[in-house]
Amino acid sequence: MSDFLLADVRLLDPAAGLDQPGDILVRDGRIADLGAGLGRPEGVAVIAGGGAVLCPGLVDMRAELGEPGGAWRETVASAALAAAAGGITTVAALPDSQPALDEPALVRLLRARGEETGSLTVLPFGALTRGCRGEEMAELGLLREAGAVAFTDGARAIGPARLMRLALSYAGMLGARIVQHPEDPSLAEGGAATEGELATRLGLPGIPTAAEAIMVARDIALARLTGGAVHFAHVSTASALTLVRRAKDEGLSVTCDTAPPYFDLNETAIGDWRTYAKLSPPLRAEADRQAVAAALADGTIDAIASDHQPRDADDKRLPFAQAAAGGAGLATLLAVTLAQVQSGGLTLLRAIEMLTVVPARLLGTSSGTLSRGTPADLCLFDPERAWKVSAGMLPGRAQNTPFDGRALEGRVLGTWKSGRRVFG
Ligand SMILES: [Zn+2]
Repeated sequence: MSDFLLADVRLLDPAAGLDQPGDILVRDGRIADLGAGLGRPEGVAVIAGGGAVLCPGLVDMRAELGEPGGAWRETVASAALAAAAGGITTVAALPDSQPALDEPALVRLLRARGEETGSLTVLPFGALTRGCRGEEMAELGLLREAGAVAFTDGARAIGPARLMRLALSYAGMLGARIVQHPEDPSLAEGGAATEGELATRLGLPGIPTAAEAIMVARDIALARLTGGAVHFAHVSTASALTLVRRAKDEGLSVTCDTAPPYFDLNETAIGDWRTYAKLSPPLRAEADRQAVAAALADGTIDAIASDHQPRDADDKRLPFAQAAAGGAGLATLLAVTLAQVQSGGLTLLRAIEMLTVVPARLLGTSSGTLSRGTPADLCLFDPERAWKVSAGMLPGRAQNTPFDGRALEGRVLGTWKSGRRVFG
């Protein structure tokens, strides 16, 4: 392992509240030192940072990685390419694969698949129920021992209240969170867009925004009842965020994330039935987008996840109502988040906090910081370099980006995993 000094960078470490110019020294794959005026230690290669931002490798708390069972859409190896290009060094993998991650051996397998890439730590979620079918609870204790970081049924909402109550109790005893796709299944079934004028004009079956708030309200009540910890994924509506804000004020173990489409796009992105903008939950009205952006700034939203959902041409080249929902998100996670900084909504430190140390804490991993002695998972980026998202040109296999054609500022220049350069 070669030692190096990354010199003349803007050091950004939200965990330490650090935002200052300086250098960072990596020895034996670990962060040996950082700060201003480290000098030029002998026998150490110097990499010129050129004033770019150096932050911890990003921690993405929600992605589908295509394995097992969906390799034509994405593999851990192809996702690792997209992740490295996006500055991501740790990702939490959803368990609703084929088969689902409902056996300890599968949880271990996915972790190992990440290790094989040499560039990406994969932290698997355990399936809450067998096959993620929402019926019989999986062996949570065994999954936890195998390394499951939390429990969820992935893109499927945990529907029955009784099941969710049990899940919060059991997972609470194991010190794990339940991650909910907050959408009432009976209200969402068959829907393709957010219910309202636009869906009506396009002739699309609608999902009312209340489907999200109803589930969030119910699960907050169950968290209060059980003392368990619930985490809501990709929260996308003002009404649900109001409920989360109140639950936090009350001191309940309630956290949430959102994904870039919900603060960067609104429902008009589906235009004339653009299936790449068909997501789950569906894109919302502008007022909801603004509420999500505000909740990033005020701390109601804890983290930003890519919610990467690889889909191929066969999934998307269908009439809108039949097309598969989901967007690719790994390569655009950082740059779309930075758009919120450029528009003045967020400080850079807060933006990076939601992409590093906070998701790391929620997943129970110690990565996501620049602490001395920790593995050198690093992301170097130029916050001003312009580029344009282009479906078909993204790294990795999945090309179904809802941001196709979007002009962005902020480009990853280099990504390091345990001190080894894996991108740039
Ligand atoms: Zn979901």
